Amino acid sequence: MSAPNKSYDPVEVEALKPEEIERMRDEALAAFAAAGDLDELAHAKTAHTGGTSPLALANREIGALPPQAKAEAGKRVGQARGAVNKAFAERLAQLEAERDERVLVEEAVDVTLPYDRVPAGARHPLTTLMDRIADIFTAMGYEVAEGPEVEAEWFNFDALNFTPDHPARQMQDTFFVRGPEGVEGDESGVVLRTHTSPVQARALLERREPPVYIVCPGRVYRTDELDATHTPVFHQVELLAVDEGLTMADLKGTIDHMVKSLFGDDVTTRLRPNFFPFTEPSAEMDMQCYVCRGASVGNPDRPCRTCSSEGWIELGGCGMVNPKVLTACGVDPEKYSGFAFGFGIERMLMFRHNVEDMRDMVEGDVRFTRPFGMEI
Ligand SMILES: [Zn+2]
Repeated sequence: MSAPNKSYDPVEVEALKPEEIERMRDEALAAFAAAGDLDELAHAKTAHTGGTSPLALANREIGALPPQAKAEAGKRVGQARGAVNKAFAERLAQLEAERDERVLVEEAVDVTLPYDRVPAGARHPLTTLMDRIADIFTAMGYEVAEGPEVEAEWFNFDALNFTPDHPARQMQDTFFVRGPEGVEGDESGVVLRTHTSPVQARALLERREPPVYIVCPGRVYRTDELDATHTPVFHQVELLAVDEGLTMADLKGTIDHMVKSLFGDDVTTRLRPNFFPFTEPSAEMDMQCYVCRGASVGNPDRPCRTCSSEGWIELGGCGMVNPKVLTACGVDPEKYSGFAFGFGIERMLMFRHNVEDMRDMVEGDVRFTRPFGMEI
């Protein structure tokens, strides 16, 4: 029996040679030093200390060594791994400190800013104004009525006593809706309504028997280019009253009430003769300028922008419902009479709030609507 061979020289394992271990350690340290941020450092850590890293593989080789060589190789690898872990921890602390510093600078939080403020929206002033006008009339017992925006030509023109050759029916004024294939637009009998007046005919036909008191705010269409004073889509409010014994005096009193409600008790109105196919007699309705009260007329020292120094502002057309319209809608003109008027909301908003450009109303910019505030 022989004593253990103390001079046993183990077969050298390539991965455990001192210079190999040193090289692995140095590569790891270099990789950590080169990592520019925490992500890169995390990758370097996996590559140099992970389960398949050269040092981990070398560590595994130790087990296969004879006892004598084990201790020495174990010490070398252990020292190298210790150095690598230490270098990693140092670099990690360094990069984390850099990140924290950067965050403080780049993501500076202004603690004086409100954190929970949601900008309040605003209803469009056209909607608010239409609602307000409708409110004035519902308070007097009127009903709010609506009609389709894509309307039969008959309701839009024929029922309202427009003759077949009336210029308003031309394609340069009216949007005709194209019919099925082969039917040209102006033969389809369908238009985008050019005014809210067809709702008059609809209301009378639907109800059959007066009394009828309706107010109809709504959107209408004409083939105008969009510019400072025109828009192809705009809004009107239509009023219709049909009952026994209604006269022009009732019309005038009703308009007076609306104007006073909107502009003040001392604003007066006037009627000027005009012609519309669906009313007879017909009139233009003006209100006294609520800004200068007429003081700008003939007074160049006090010009008024609101009424262009005319003293009066044109509101819209009105009149007694033409008996032909009543007949077309199945109402007996011998028994009933009625009055109607309609006016443009955009125009009213323009002079009520000194809006100078119609495009502001259609562009949907909150900077335009916000100053009008919130009204419910
Ligand atoms: Zn004026």
